[in-house]
Amino acid sequence: MERPWITGDCWLGCERTEVLVIWLGPVQWDGQHAPFYACEPCLDRLKAQALAYFMERRPASA
Ligand SMILES: [Zn+2]
Repeated sequence: MERPWITGDCWLGCERTEVLVIWLGPVQWDGQHAPFYACEPCLDRLKAQALAYFMERRPASA
């Protein structure tokens, strides 16, 4: 799945602005939503965390 990288602010905690970021999806909270962007290092961190989560949920016998 290819998504365009754009220049913007990272929403994932590194607080960098004007960096290349990718849209991850809408954040919904309390009836509001906002676009959620992540820079590459933060995306890598998120992907590693997601992978660990998937591995943990996978049955050991599978
Ligand atoms: Zn970041």
